[in-house]
Amino acid sequence: MALLVQKFGGTSVGDPERMRAVADHVARTVRKGNQVVVVISAMGKETDELLRLASEVSDTRPGREMDMLVTAGERKATALLCMAIADLGIEAESFTGSQAGFLTDSTHRNAKIIDVKPHRIVEALAAGRVAVVGGAQGVSPERNVTFLGRGGSDTTAVALAHALGAQSCELYTDVTGVFTSDPRVVEDARRMDRISFDELLEMTANGCPKPAMRSVEFARNYDVELHVRSAFTWEHGTIVTKEDNTMEQAIVSAVVHDADEAKVTIGGVADRPGIAARMFRALADSDINVDLIVQNTSDHGVTDISFTVPHSELEPALAICNDHAGELGASRVSGESAIARVSVVGAGMKSHPGVAATVFETLAANNINIEMIATSAIRVSCVVAESEVERAVIALHDAFGLADGPVYVD
Ligand code: ASP
Ligand code: MG
Repeated sequence: MALLVQKFGGTSVGDPERMRAVADHVARTVRKGNQVVVVISAMGKETDELLRLASEVSDTRPGREMDMLVTAGERKATALLCMAIADLGIEAESFTGSQAGFLTDSTHRNAKIIDVKPHRIVEALAAGRVAVVGGAQGVSPERNVTFLGRGGSDTTAVALAHALGAQSCELYTDVTGVFTSDPRVVEDARRMDRISFDELLEMTANGCPKPAMRSVEFARNYDVELHVRSAFTWEHGTIVTKEDNTMEQAIVSAVVHDADEAKVTIGGVADRPGIAARMFRALADSDINVDLIVQNTSDHGVTDISFTVPHSELEPALAICNDHAGELGASRVSGESAIARVSVVGAGMKSHPGVAATVFETLAANNINIEMIATSAIRVSCVVAESEVERAVIALHDAFGLADGPVYVD
């Protein structure tokens, strides 16, 4: 008998028929002799709908009330799923995040988990019931309902799997696993059987939308095995585990891209200690999440600094840079939003030379100009024009032969 956590995303429970299909899958898993804890998202686009409703009703939208509102989506889904499971002759009990023991900080809209004390879930399992937990929610020290943020249900599932010592955390979604590239862009993108936490973390930090990055980070930190799979075809998906030294390492596993990037350039600043420090402190103090940073070599004691931010932060970032331009002695500040980042990720590149060279050669052969470059031990990223990024992804996927299967380090 295994204890499994099964998480279902919004499209997986998007309508009554989907709800019943999920109930059926849960019931089958129980009948095979497993204990099951379900974590569920709000149905379909309900979270977006609730957020839209709030903005039509109020300009103020206090965080406490927003969290009470948004978490109602998941709560509704838990009750409906329990009813559908009951129809199949299996007892199921719904729980809010608070009832399931999710203690969080008080940062409404984006709360962080402090502790998970799932006593009631353990009791439900001991009584032979399925526990169905509302995703992305918890309770603050002030006993207010909190929301863990968009995509928070993945984190709920992983945290619960860890707290309960579950054998596996299955993340059911509308795709069949983790792919070598976005299948909407690369026709022959391939589903991977297996990938390491570190690689998936790099992928999610660089444009791969699912699973939510925070959940992958949590899974890596606590070594919670993930199984990303489809709630539509129910086939076996992608297993995410820690990198094992006996496992063969793919030189390149995936090519991901992120079009939600914009660039800010501050030109003609003095090349002396303290300039970058002052600029990036001002950005950090305004909660602007800077991504890639490049400083040019100086010419006659002056230099240019460029950095990227998500589209939504371009205007505030430009405003801050303009405010500080005088004090930094900058001669110009400019912004560009039609850029995107393409990244090649693979654990094997740590010990295998030539990946960066192949990336640059491939982009050059396709006449795609590189505006910025950044690397980590297992990633090479290039910023290119947004209009070129899909071509770049297709060319790189092809150059590394990813459609045919991984090339391993020998
Ligand atoms: N329903 C929320 C969202 O769409 C949270 C979640 O289920 O992950 O972001
Ligand atoms: Mg862009």
